[in-house]
Amino acid sequence: MAKGDRQGALALLLKTNPFPEVTGRLCPEIFEETLCQNRRGDRVSLRAIERYLADNVALKQISSLGSRKTKVAVIGSGPAGLSAAWTLAGLGYSPTVYEAAPFPGGTFGYRFGPVQLPPKVLQGILRRFKNAGIAFLTDFLFGRAALPAELLEQGFGAVLVATGVSAARPLGITGEGVGGVIPADVFLKAVNWRAEDPELWLGRKVIVVGEIDPAFAVARTAIRLGRKVTVVVRGPETHVQANPMFVRHAVEEGIQLKAFTSPVGILAGPDGCVQGIVCRYLDYRMDNNGRMVMVADGAGEFTLDADTVITAGGWEPDTLFLRDIPGLEFNADGSIRTKPESAATALPGIFAAGGVVEPDMSLTDTILAGTRAAQEIDEKLKP
Ligand SMILES: Cc1cc2nc3c(=O)[nH]c(=O)nc-3n(C[C@H](O)[C@H](O)[C@H](O)COP(=O)(O)OP(=O)(O)OC[C@H]3O[C@@H](n4cnc5c(N)ncnc54)[C@H](O)[C@@H]3O)c2cc1C
Repeated sequence: MAKGDRQGALALLLKTNPFPEVTGRLCPEIFEETLCQNRRGDRVSLRAIERYLADNVALKQISSLGSRKTKVAVIGSGPAGLSAAWTLAGLGYSPTVYEAAPFPGGTFGYRFGPVQLPPKVLQGILRRFKNAGIAFLTDFLFGRAALPAELLEQGFGAVLVATGVSAARPLGITGEGVGGVIPADVFLKAVNWRAEDPELWLGRKVIVVGEIDPAFAVARTAIRLGRKVTVVVRGPETHVQANPMFVRHAVEEGIQLKAFTSPVGILAGPDGCVQGIVCRYLDYRMDNNGRMVMVADGAGEFTLDADTVITAGGWEPDTLFLRDIPGLEFNADGSIRTKPESAATALPGIFAAGGVVEPDMSLTDTILAGTRAAQEIDEKLKP
């Protein structure tokens, strides 16, 4: 960039980052403060440079590093699967990405919503991927339409399972089954994928429980639907776990943060639907390592009125469709067990990466996991 070679800068960036238009919008700011400075020592926004290059520079051609032509199957088209496919294509393989949904993208397609990730961003990414020779097959439910061994028999050199996370982890409070309690993924899919009319099912007063990034994607989506939105967080406003930029933007849009608050149960009205959420105030003390530990403050319980509660407490992979495969190993939470520091599963030729291996991975870690899995597959397949 400093030399004025924007084409070269983007080509270089794309070698290690398949989605600069995504990281350029969503990456946490922490790295910028510590690592990225200009010659005068001023802070430079790496995120803004990535976004600028990705949004404004069109690459004349995508270069491939080789032409091995071996086919590799990637199952799932979220960030893990796509980043693996991109790296494999760059190494000269022919990746085919299989996706259960009618269109590719996984997380990118609906979890951030049009506010954070406009649909044209994903469309641009998919165009670039197709130009790089990556094939997509949608409406393909792996486990039913084909099993890993069948894909290997069809001539694929390796199969990478990157089917992500989809099953909401319960909050562990009473009343989670009452009408009007909606897991974040279900809410985001309904609004951002299926464009369902929220007037039919979304109340006026929405409480979001959870303080990781998705809680704020949910809250910003709900407030733009004209709802009054409160996010319940355990600690102070200054110590929310999510990306600080997401929290700041949410507050700027008018979302209330209910700090030092721990939900204990969801109240149903006479119609069986949400009427409110019973909470307890929390206090904090510092432990011996100087870390903040939240403790009950003893002030008793109180109720926040709500018509809809959206839960964003974390997710687990839904791998039931793989359980009958002899030899494939799973962890207690349903994630696929891989070898230590590796994407290899117990089955030869079958690899796994992303949320299906580590459900709590952040987006950026997921992108890296896909890249590393592709490099490992290359090590196994190259002569
Ligand atoms: C509601 C929600 C919101 C989130 N918001 C954020 C956020 O704001 N910031 C952040 O950093 N992280 C967020 N995450 C976490 C983030 O989504 C994950 O870190 C990351 O997306 C996992 O990427 P992945 O590629 O492993 O899976 P995914 O993006 O989930 O993609 C998996 C793909 O596999 C497909 N698939 C599943 N089963 C099959 C099958 N049997 N056959 C074929 N295809 C299949 C799915 O349809 C999907 O397209 C969120 C997670 C959830 C659940």
